[in-house]
Amino acid sequence: MEKIRLGKTNMMVSKLGFGGIPIQRLSEEDAIAVVRRCLSLGVTFIDTANGYTTSEERIGKAIAGRRRGLILATKSGSRSREGIEKHLNLSLERLAVDSIDLYQFHGVSTFEALETILEAKGPMAAVEDAKKAGRIKHVGITSHSMDVAKEAVKSGQFETIMFPFNFITNEPADELLPLCREHDVGFIVMKPLAGGMLDNATVAFKYLLQFPDVVMIPGIEHAWEIEEIARIFVGPKQMTPAEEAEMQRLRDELGTKFCRRCDYCQPCPQEIPISMVMNSAGFAKRLPPERLFSGWISTGMERAATCTDCGDCEERCPYHLPIREIIAERVEWYDEARTQYQGQAV
Ligand code: SF4
Ligand code: SF4
Repeated sequence: MEKIRLGKTNMMVSKLGFGGIPIQRLSEEDAIAVVRRCLSLGVTFIDTANGYTTSEERIGKAIAGRRRGLILATKSGSRSREGIEKHLNLSLERLAVDSIDLYQFHGVSTFEALETILEAKGPMAAVEDAKKAGRIKHVGITSHSMDVAKEAVKSGQFETIMFPFNFITNEPADELLPLCREHDVGFIVMKPLAGGMLDNATVAFKYLLQFPDVVMIPGIEHAWEIEEIARIFVGPKQMTPAEEAEMQRLRDELGTKFCRRCDYCQPCPQEIPISMVMNSAGFAKRLPPERLFSGWISTGMERAATCTDCGDCEERCPYHLPIREIIAERVEWYDEARTQYQGQAV
């Protein structure tokens, strides 16, 4: 498996990494087996998060006795010093390791959140202290907002950035990736398969393989998925004319409906979490049903049903997406899926 240098961290990581969201859906035994299959194929970059319920613990069990040579990345969505300290302790305990190679601030998509993280004696200070104590080796950030991501890269405070990048959400190729190269910030590709929206792995990964200095972390649920993707990484990287045509067809089909989760459409007067609702079909592929039909997803989908059709969001969406139409479709789909799930559960 090819390795690349992850920006100024100077860490060498496998170009194909492991995204730890989908193993939450599996039994613990199956989750451990999937992670181990990834390791056996030469994957050395493992990404998880405090927020991914069982993921850290399962990864910890899978890598027990095999820590050497692995680069472990996890994240915290906390915006307070105390919260970061608590999450870091939990991550070290769940992963059963003495140190985390890359600790990332999770989902920083507003300027306010970025400022809070960088406040004196704030979350970044907690991470810096942990770094001095050897509990963290490097610091990164993840974001869905292009403007915030660019600011974070320019700040010089982060060694890596994780951002959505695929042949539909391909905006990073123009500015963010060149900016990362300029500042020597490692680029980790979030959602190489567009959060489960792209089924054609060959086209999706061959598109990304033209960028030699990015690490990709597809979410992996089954051994066959990582086996299929690993084959693409060692095969011919050039797209065939048929694959080029397929990429264009998918762009035409999905590009007009694909939400980049930038949140430029906010604020919604009904407080509908628009990007979450727009991407809810992808959650169904990655999350266990008990999470899909409860908590913040359920609350958000219920809010979506209160859309007044005002159209304010569509005026603000830079991609001119038919937000109202998509929200109505998602609400209908969610109600049907929930009814079906509840029917199965009794
Ligand atoms: S159309 Fe619906 S989702 Fe969009 S801003 Fe208005 S209420 Fe919110
Ligand atoms: S609907 Fe448009 S503006 Fe809103 S998050 Fe999606 S892409 Fe961004």
